[in-house]
Amino acid sequence: MSEITPFEDVEEYRDHIATVDEKGKRIWVYPKKPKGKFTSARTYLSWAFLIFLFGVPFIKVNGEPLMLFNILKRHFIIFGVSFAPQDFHLFVLAMLTFVVFIILFTVIYGRLFCGWVCPQTVFMEMVYRKIEYLIEGDANAQRRLNNSPWTSDKIIKKLSKQLIFFAIAVLISNTFLAYIIGIDEVYKIATEPISQNLTGFIAMLVFSFAFYFVFAWMREQVCIAICPYGRLQGVLLDKNSIVVHYDHVRGEPRGKIKKETGNKPISPISSIQSSVLQSEKAVALEMVEALPSAANPIEAVQKSLGDCIDCKLCIHVCPTGIDIRNGTQLECVNCTACIDACDEVMDKVSRPRGLIRYASATSIETKTQKVFTTRVKAYTVVLALMVILNIVLLSMRTDVEVLLLRTPGMLFQKVGKDKISNLYNYEIINKTRDTFPIEFRLVKPKGTIKLVGKTPFTKASEVTEGAMFIEIERKNLGSRKTRIEVDVYSKGKKIDRVKTNFLGPI
Ligand code: SF4
Ligand code: SF4
Repeated sequence: MSEITPFEDVEEYRDHIATVDEKGKRIWVYPKKPKGKFTSARTYLSWAFLIFLFGVPFIKVNGEPLMLFNILKRHFIIFGVSFAPQDFHLFVLAMLTFVVFIILFTVIYGRLFCGWVCPQTVFMEMVYRKIEYLIEGDANAQRRLNNSPWTSDKIIKKLSKQLIFFAIAVLISNTFLAYIIGIDEVYKIATEPISQNLTGFIAMLVFSFAFYFVFAWMREQVCIAICPYGRLQGVLLDKNSIVVHYDHVRGEPRGKIKKETGNKPISPISSIQSSVLQSEKAVALEMVEALPSAANPIEAVQKSLGDCIDCKLCIHVCPTGIDIRNGTQLECVNCTACIDACDEVMDKVSRPRGLIRYASATSIETKTQKVFTTRVKAYTVVLALMVILNIVLLSMRTDVEVLLLRTPGMLFQKVGKDKISNLYNYEIINKTRDTFPIEFRLVKPKGTIKLVGKTPFTKASEVTEGAMFIEIERKNLGSRKTRIEVDVYSKGKKIDRVKTNFLGPI
């Protein structure tokens, strides 16, 4: 005699993933096409996301991309602000702040990011999967097609699907490259002879096949087995995290709705239930046997059941193939398909929606939601401090940085009767995409700057090096080491001030 509990006997599902069988072979998931208010909202958001993703590489600010992540040249542009290698600490700090933000967000809202804006989910569920539904039909039709012999109809469907899949992968690959090397370079790769951009062309092909492999074959395995963020869920989530949750308090013990005099399912969800009825019939009969004292055993079963009618629609729509009724699982990407499916079922059986909903384990068990836990408060403080540090460092950042250091190994020289000279090396780091002249002016104390060579011109995104003598009258020097200040000008505009030491006689 088996007893139905919220987590059926059976934590056995934790021993393996739903998409791999006992022999370690992949179980292909055929998720039923979801529909409902969450799916619609996600669809609209996905369109906005895709427009943003594909549109951004075409947007330029002052001739520069709005966003660029050129790892090869260590040049980054974020919303029009250019970051050079010298700003790497800012970039790293911004990334760390983002990671803390993600952690805080995940602790509170679980894997909301995965379900709504993760590019993997958006492309998989909103682009590739929809094309698959369009060409091959819903889950059952796909299953039938895969098991059917190779006819001309099957060949056309499979071939056209794979060609479209690859074409989209090429598009994603080019967009991905545009974020790294810029849209102009990508345009060259696409239009110029291959021999002129061989490396870029190979990179484009490699990324295209990688994306094709991910979306045509790997699919949910990326979220389950590869994505580091997914793997971290075990340490990020706790009982107060708001995730897609099955309300086991309301839903259990689960069981099918039966007519009072038999096992025939009542409409309007008879079609949902009938497909699984035979396999579940034995369980229902066992339940009846468990209640011998009831006047009408079947009625007693009905009254003792929770709201889950065990139609398994939530499993059938799940793109990772899990049963959310087992509780929060690593595989759940919070795609909301099971919420929509269950809401539809609840509507049909005239029960309140939300048997599966965004909720925390605590709120389901105690009916109260605790958001500001000690953990959340601690992360919030860390995040706030990091944001402040980012703002301070960003506000101190300049487009041009100048380093002025006395030439190593050199002391001072006497010039004439009363002047002392020091030799300096300078480095001008130009983080902009412009080339412009540079002028040095000694601010404190009074003295003269004599450049070695011509007036320096800083080149776009380059470091310009040079040397100069600074001469100061002895009477203007204090002790052996005097602090001096030099202003850096370009086209009459002050762009930086540097401080260094000047050596003189004791
Ligand atoms: S869709 Fe809802 S009613 Fe059907 S099995 Fe899932 S939780 Fe139960
Ligand atoms: S259980 Fe499956 S269908 Fe439900 S949110 Fe998680 S991944 Fe989506």
